[in-house]
Amino acid sequence: YCQFKAMLSGDMLEISQQRFLFSFLTILIVLGFEVDSINSVQFSNHTGYEHWKGQVLTADELHVLYEGITLNKVNQYDYILTGYTRDVSFLEMVVSMVQELKGTNPSLVYGRWHYSLYLSEAAMTESFTVDQYVPEDLLPVYREKVVPVADIITPNQFEAELLTGKKISTEKDAVEAIDLLHAMGPHTVVITSSDLLSPLGDQHLVALGSQTTVGAGGTKEKQQIRMDIPKVDAVFVGTGDLFAAMLLAWTHHHPNDLKTACEKTVSVMQHVIKRTITYAKGRIVVPPYLNIFPSGPFETEIKLTVLVPPVVSVGPVI
Ligand code: ADP
Repeated sequence: YCQFKAMLSGDMLEISQQRFLFSFLTILIVLGFEVDSINSVQFSNHTGYEHWKGQVLTADELHVLYEGITLNKVNQYDYILTGYTRDVSFLEMVVSMVQELKGTNPSLVYGRWHYSLYLSEAAMTESFTVDQYVPEDLLPVYREKVVPVADIITPNQFEAELLTGKKISTEKDAVEAIDLLHAMGPHTVVITSSDLLSPLGDQHLVALGSQTTVGAGGTKEKQQIRMDIPKVDAVFVGTGDLFAAMLLAWTHHHPNDLKTACEKTVSVMQHVIKRTITYAKGRIVVPPYLNIFPSGPFETEIKLTVLVPPVVSVGPVI
């Protein structure tokens, strides 16, 4: 029984990575979502390999699919989640679909994961080829059209810096960048990873989250948290995508409690990553996408600190 309907558009439809997509969808389904997925590309393998072949969905082809959904009146979505896009017309089509669907369902939530605006962090590691760099002309589209219609965004530090034009060197800078992103539209912003040094040492990864909510009587409240996440000594592909999907699902289950939503999101991340590593080393035979939810309490080793106790200010309802 699926209560909520989400539309997902993603880039990770490499055939050799479909197990990853499958795990991604399965987790959302387990969390109660009915998911329609649109493959924005279908590639033979990840583009980090020497060779890759496949097809890219054009903006017009995306519109044809959307038209079919609309004609049959099966376009009542509660959530839309989209990922990496390197084409301006495709991105603009997504924005117009989101705007139209928000007209049908004003409470629809649009979450956006990976930006890869120009050079993703991974691209800087030389494992990526030049043609994977996203053209710079996408940046204004993200800033002026995509972020303003997004409700939840999950940029990494590099993407947050590009979107805001603000260099992040300290936690204070990060909080200011997050506030700039809020001012652009989204009520929930999580910087999923950063170069900031954790108070727990260099074996921890710092992520920062912030959520504005509207309390009784139209008062605006804000919760900001820092997450000190134990680092696993490996580089993963697709973690940003999984994080965004989990955050979307857990903010649905805990709509006004970012701390709990992040705690559960990061807990799932830790379980998936640790199982993936164990699986990769051939120590277990259980696919990593099974049994990722701990039967007991959620991961306790993740430290979440509330940076800003709920700040109450009277303002217009966003
Ligand atoms: P991307 O750059 O793909 O957007 P991030 O690097 O920001 O993704 O990672 C997203 C999340 O994945 C992090 O918040 C963290 O929970 C998890 N993660 C990624 N890499 C690691 C790692 N090496 N160790 C622990 N957690 C990780």
